[in-house]
Amino acid sequence: MNVNKSRLETRAVHAGTRSPRIEGALVTPIFQSTVFESPASIDNYDDIVYPRLNNLPNHDVVGKRIASLEGAESGLVFASGMAAISTALVAVLGKGGHALVQDQLYGGTRTLLTTYFGDWGLDFDFIDGDDPDSWRGKLQTNTRTIFTETIANPLLQVADHRAIVAFAREHGLVSMVDNTFATPVNFLPIELGYDLSLHSCTKYLNGHSDITAGAVVGSDTQVRRVRSLLNHLGGSLDAHACFLLDRGIKTLVVRVREQCRNALTLARHLEGHRAVSRVHYPGLESHSHHQRAVDLFPDFGGVLAIELAGGADAAAQLIERLTIPTSGPSLGGVETLITRPVVTSHSGLTAIERERLGITDGLLRVSLGIEAVEDIIDDFEQALVS
Ligand SMILES: *Cc1c(COP(=O)(O)O)cnc(C)c1O
Repeated sequence: MNVNKSRLETRAVHAGTRSPRIEGALVTPIFQSTVFESPASIDNYDDIVYPRLNNLPNHDVVGKRIASLEGAESGLVFASGMAAISTALVAVLGKGGHALVQDQLYGGTRTLLTTYFGDWGLDFDFIDGDDPDSWRGKLQTNTRTIFTETIANPLLQVADHRAIVAFAREHGLVSMVDNTFATPVNFLPIELGYDLSLHSCTKYLNGHSDITAGAVVGSDTQVRRVRSLLNHLGGSLDAHACFLLDRGIKTLVVRVREQCRNALTLARHLEGHRAVSRVHYPGLESHSHHQRAVDLFPDFGGVLAIELAGGADAAAQLIERLTIPTSGPSLGGVETLITRPVVTSHSGLTAIERERLGITDGLLRVSLGIEAVEDIIDDFEQALVS
């Protein structure tokens, strides 16, 4: 059977695997060599087998696996999520390009835009992902892309993705979405009509908090442009990290489904807790984008955010008292993590910018792991007792 036509769970385990298997090995071996004997007649630089040129079997297998999971023609892996985002944005924008970018954005992506784009002669405007009527007024003759995140950090907003895709089509823009928070388990951007889907594989795709990696998937044509720039900028993923990513992806579907279940259970529990003033989770009816999330996703992701009645002091105290969640500014792994965005992921923003985005000093972001949710709830209960 053609594995690319199988169900998601099967593709997560098998898609991209070489047939016949390399030396019969069930698991793709690590090609730990920087030199490969080359034919004397080679005439194309990109045909040289060299790890930076993304052409080891390890790159090929894991890139094809991720592409298959997202129903895309082609996929490419990178040394980090930021390598994927920066390389893809620069490749798409070309000389003097302008981007429309969702205002709720991963901190690293925001800093790339606000600190470096101007120096490189690139330009951007922030857009409100909720307000399609405001986008047209921000178009310029050199606008080439519209860039969003499926579920935005840290308040878990869901932009109007159907409108974004339609807008990009109407105006000939390359639509790009950072699908890190949703993963292909919960959202298939290419199927909805996005041109490029990007990931920090450091998070859910690898899932074990032990490598940094990134990915871009899309059509052959779009991915070829990105790959050509990657081969020269050099943010390529090392073969050993490819191997770990390949292994991590095999359990993606079971991990993410469990993480989503844990997040929904904890969100519902904390929503009724007197020490908690607000829970942000798109799976809750109280979330402003709940209906849109129900329309777009089967599950709502493994991350939620809470505000405590006691504010910043109570937030710091909760982190101190929790025993299962580790305080750490990442997400997507099998261990539950908790972080205060004000002092970690969003510390680069000014107080005014944070206030405008609704990121309060006492906000906490929780990334659910795969521990028993009853234990996590018990831990929150003991830690929230004042
Ligand atoms: C972590 C993250 C990134 C950056 O990925 P790295 O692997 O740390 O470079 C980009 N986007 C989102 C949504 C992230 O969570």
